Formats: sequence, structure tokens, C-alpha cells
Amino acid sequence: MHTTKLAFLVAASCSAVLMLSADVAVGAAATPAGEPFSKTCREGARAREVPIQFMEPFKVFDNLWHVGPCYVSVWLLTTPQGHILFDTAQEPFVDMVMANIRKTGVNLRDIKYIFVNHGHLDHAGGAARLQEFTGARVGAVAEDWTMIEELAGKPGGRDPDKKPNVVPKRDLVVKEGDKIDVGDQHLTMHNAPGHTPGVMFVEGIVLKDGANTYKGIWGGGGAGGEGLAGAQTGLVTANEINAIKGVQVYLQTHSWQEPNGYPGGGIHERAKLLATRKAGDPHPFVDPATWDARAKRQLETAQRVLAEERAKAGGAR
Ligand SMILES: [Zn+2]
Repeated sequence: MHTTKLAFLVAASCSAVLMLSADVAVGAAATPAGEPFSKTCREGARAREVPIQFMEPFKVFDNLWHVGPCYVSVWLLTTPQGHILFDTAQEPFVDMVMANIRKTGVNLRDIKYIFVNHGHLDHAGGAARLQEFTGARVGAVAEDWTMIEELAGKPGGRDPDKKPNVVPKRDLVVKEGDKIDVGDQHLTMHNAPGHTPGVMFVEGIVLKDGANTYKGIWGGGGAGGEGLAGAQTGLVTANEINAIKGVQVYLQTHSWQEPNGYPGGGIHERAKLLATRKAGDPHPFVDPATWDARAKRQLETAQRVLAEERAKAGGAR
């Protein structure tokens, strides 16, 4: 089998090893024809198989690595003064995340901050062990800290052994507008409630590709909480997201998320392009249209949901 430098090792067991390369689609034999690998990891018939989630780390920019499993991204942003980890995945993938970080050459103890996007297990489930092994500050929005704490002791959703969740100690409570500096990264934190009562976006990420730098943002979560109040909050969030302009790289929290901006795929399909990129080719993760489309869709959705909720409440007549 032909492989490239980008080796997506998709088997932890000895039974089968599938490699992703420029011309060999991962899981092609066992997934519906034409289904992007990014979707296979989340929605395909094999998405709940543990081995398919195992991945090697891959370098996306000079100062950014993808170190997570296939369905939920963990991003490692490096600076000479210490590093930042975005999201933590969950068991049984946390050992893999830590091994991937080491493979990039980063010492776990040099990670200064770990940000948890929101209080669902797929983002927060690795935070306790990563907090312990790195000594980093762990940040989440206050409402999400409460959700994270409520996960304690429940059986892990993807863990075949269903071991009870261990959660991190409440540490950094991230508030709207907070500024966090690490080395050459000057981050602005946003609280974008909707998908959960918290949800985080981090603005100000600078991504380096040779002589070029790009403006990046990380975050996720859609608009809309419960009822009229939730819809109103959703519109506030959507307007806030829309006010962030000039984003060239949207670091998504999941590979399968729409809009992914790349026809037929998400993070892993872009990674395939990156692996075969030649000098002078555009960087496949630099794609302002993806962020703009996301912001526009979120605003349209929030406006529609608010109109519906107002109509239900009788306020639209
Ligand atoms: Zn979630």
C-alpha cells in the first residue's frame, strides 16, 4: 500500500491497519462510497469502533498540531514560552493524546493552558488526567465547569470498560473578554452560550506557515438554548460571532462539523491535501469562507429561532 508522510494509523489492535494517504481512503472498504473520513469517524457505521479513532499527530502549521482522535479534535498550539492545548477528548483516547503530544517533541509539563470548549464529555473527559500530567491551568466557562463537575462518577460514554468519569478540579473560570497571553499568542476569550450554557471561542490565535501568518479562531457550538430566553441569548451569541471578522483559519472542534468549507470533507480531508501540498500551493486550512459561512449561518439560525419563539409566545403578531 502506498503511503505518504501523513500516516493515519487507524488501528490500535493487531487485526487491521488502515493507512490514509493521498490516494487511499481510510476505511473505504467498510464505509459507504464517497463518505468523507471525517464523517465516518462520527456518523458512519464504524464511528463507535475504538480503533478507528486512533490517529498519529499531524502538523498543520509551524506552531500547530492536531493530536486528537478522529472524531473530536485536540489542537496543540506551541510557543517558545510554553504551549496551549485546546480540548482534551475523552477515554479511552487520553493516553493516545498524551503520546501524540510527546511525538511532536513537546514536553507535557511545558503546556501552560488547557481550554475545554464546553462541558460535554467528548471535550472535557481527558481534562483531569491532562491537568495532572501537565500541571497546566485548565480553563472553561463557569456554566461549563458546573456541567463538567456533574459528569463525575458517571460511566464514560465511549470507554469500553465504562470506567467512571474523573473530572478536573475547577480552575480557571473563563469570562467574556478575558485576555490571556502565552509567548507570542495574545488570546481573547469569548463566551458563546447555546450548545451548552457556556461554550468558548478563542480569538487572536496566530498561525505560522513559513513567512506567512494567519488569523485563527478556535471554538464551537451552535446557537440556541431553550425557549424564548434561549433564543434571545442565541442571537446575542450569533451577533458576537459575526462581529469577529477576518478569520482565515477556523479550528473546528470536530472533524465532521458543517460547514467545513472543503467540498466532501472536513479536517482530515484538508489534512490529506496538506500532506501532498507542494511549494507555492495554498494552505488547505487557510479558508476565510469557512468562518464567514459559519458566522452567517449562525446568525440566520438565531434570527429564525427567535422569530419562531416569539411567534409561539404570541409576540410576533
Ligand atoms: Zn457538545
